[in-house]
This record gives sequence, C-alpha cells and structure tokens, in this order.
Amino acid sequence: MVNSERILNEFLELVQVDSVSGKERAIADLLKRKLSEIGLEVSEDSAGREVGSDTGNIIGKLPGKSGAPVLLLSAHMDTVEPGRGVKPVLDGGVVRSSGATVLGSDDKAGLVAILEVLRLVQEENLEHGGLEVVFTIWEEGGLFGSKNLDYKQLSAAAGFVLDSDGPPGTIVTRAPWQDQIGVTITGRSAHAGINPEAGVNAIMVASQAIAGMKIGRIDDETTSNIGIISGGKATNIVPDSVTIQGEARSLDPTKLAAQTAHICEAIKVTSDKFGAKARIVVDRVYEGFSLDEQALPVRLALSAAKNLELTPRLKNTGGGSDANIFNSKGIAAAVLGIGMNKVHTTEEFISLADLSGNVRYLLEIVRAAQRLQQGQQH
Ligand SMILES: [Zn+2]
Repeated sequence: MVNSERILNEFLELVQVDSVSGKERAIADLLKRKLSEIGLEVSEDSAGREVGSDTGNIIGKLPGKSGAPVLLLSAHMDTVEPGRGVKPVLDGGVVRSSGATVLGSDDKAGLVAILEVLRLVQEENLEHGGLEVVFTIWEEGGLFGSKNLDYKQLSAAAGFVLDSDGPPGTIVTRAPWQDQIGVTITGRSAHAGINPEAGVNAIMVASQAIAGMKIGRIDDETTSNIGIISGGKATNIVPDSVTIQGEARSLDPTKLAAQTAHICEAIKVTSDKFGAKARIVVDRVYEGFSLDEQALPVRLALSAAKNLELTPRLKNTGGGSDANIFNSKGIAAAVLGIGMNKVHTTEEFISLADLSGNVRYLLEIVRAAQRLQQGQQH
C-alpha cells in the first residue's frame, strides 16, 4: 500500500535539508542512513574529490534473487540556488516554497519516490532481480557527479532517472548532444582618440560575427545560444580582446556538428576579414541518447503505465540529465516525469497526488521487470 502521509513527511524532511550543488554532505548522510535502515548495502564513491564537492555519489544495492533484470534507480541530491533554508508550504493539494527559495522537488521528489519504493519492496517482500540506487552530487550545471561515478560498481540492465517535469507516465526517451564553444578574439589595442586606425577592435569583430550567426531555435531538434560575452578595458582604448561563450544542442549529432561548425565559421571568417585572431575551443559537454520502444527501460515503463491505466507519454527533451551520462556509459536509461513544476524558480511546486503517484508508478516498474522475467508480460 502506498502511504501518502509517509511520502509527504519524507518529502518535507528532505527539502528542508540544504543541498546546493557541491554542498551535499548533510543530505547524503541522511540518505545513507535511510538506505541502510531499509536494508541496502551503501557506499560513497570518490567523485566529490574529483569535482570539488564535499560529498561523493551515494550508491546503494539491494541484491535480488529472482533473475529479473537488475534496475538502476537514480535521482540527484543537489539543488539550484536560491536553495538554502527552504520553507515548504502546504497549499491545498500542492507543496510550494515560501517564495524566497526554490522548493527542491527537483530532485527531492525523485529521492523520495526511490526511498519509498525500496521500503515497499522490503515491507511487502516483493521479488526482484536486484535494485541499484545512485544518488548523484552536482547534477545541476554540469552532470559532474554522474560523469565521475564509479561505474564498476553497477551491473544494471536498465536505468530510471527520476528527474523530469510531466506527470507520472511521462517517459523521456531522447535527449540532446551538447557542445560548449569558448572563443577568444584577439585584435590590437590603440589609443581611441589619437590613432584608432592602428587598432583592431575585438568588440566590433565579435559583434559582427555574432550578428551573422543563426542562434536560438535552429529546428525542432536543435538549439543554440551565445550566453556570455566580455571584453574591453576603457572607453579610450580600442579593445584588443573579447571572450565569448556559447553552446549548441541537438537530438541529432549530425545537426549538432553542423551548428557548431556554423558558429566557428562565423567567428573565423569575421576575424580574418578584420585582421583579428580567433582561438576557438569546442567541448562535448555530454552525449545524447535515443531509446526506441524496444529498449528495456522504455518497455518496462510502458508496461507499468499500461498496468496502472496511466496514459504513457514518450517525449524528447532539450535538456541534459544524468541519463545522458548513464547511456553513454552503457546503461540504457530513461528519464521519468515526476510532476515537478516551474523548477529552477521560486514558484516551484509539486502536487501531493504526484508525490504518491511517482511511488505507485516506480513500484509498478519494478513489478514489470519481474513479470518480464516470469514471461507473463502482456
Ligand atoms: Zn533535476
């Protein structure tokens, strides 16, 4: 039986533990204790040292004997700012923040669903083939925890990352590849009033290059942005240096390559034209993924939705998540909608119905894996 009160209380407890990115110690310790109490083998990896967080990723294991596929259940422990001193407010059927901070349902609603499902699996003695839990550090702004996770510890055949908007039954099967593009344009400085002719104005070169770029929404699968620009020292100096940082994302890696090349080309051509030098560094921030309906996590998620008479909704996302990294490391993982709303704003909220619905749905996914094993899947 899904215990709505226990779920709500645990959610209220977790959102009140500060865990902004890089400072996950307090919530990690609490989660480790909870996982141990439920009966998991718990460890912490060394990712914190790699990324500069005070905490590593938390890995929990509940061995199973049924022979059903081992499942990975994952959510991230960190929240965005303003995320310190969260005071949750119960408002009819929803929980929101007081308005001074985010709520942190991104991604504590995911943590709570996983904890409660593990508890129910134990309390009800449900058969399963093994459950692996990963609570990551520093997902926001870089996926640093999952990038530095100790994958040798995992053997899961299918993963579920509880970290999307959309109600339970929402299954994200495609996510973009992303490139980050860093540019330094070097011109030549000169006195702006005495001999501007001797200068090459890096700000002018940068602005002309950017004005000639296609950015924003490129097509239904591709986006691009110039997000940061800085340069110049004083109004009486022709500026000799500008730095620009931008990105491109696409659900199709070929389209991503084309967009990244387009940005680089605009910078090079304009710099050449004005006699400036351009240094461009392109970093692949993460690999995307595309799961079809036969992929194990999608099959299980669809089967569970059918059994609960939820309307499943397969969707694409324009954002990266830990699932991008899990998939690139060989664990087929889908992202599940957990009903969080207006995330990364102080208006963030989640309904009590979705907090409980998440547990019901994830539990049914565990059952679906078991049915698959018993060959009773319909
Ligand atoms: Zn999130």
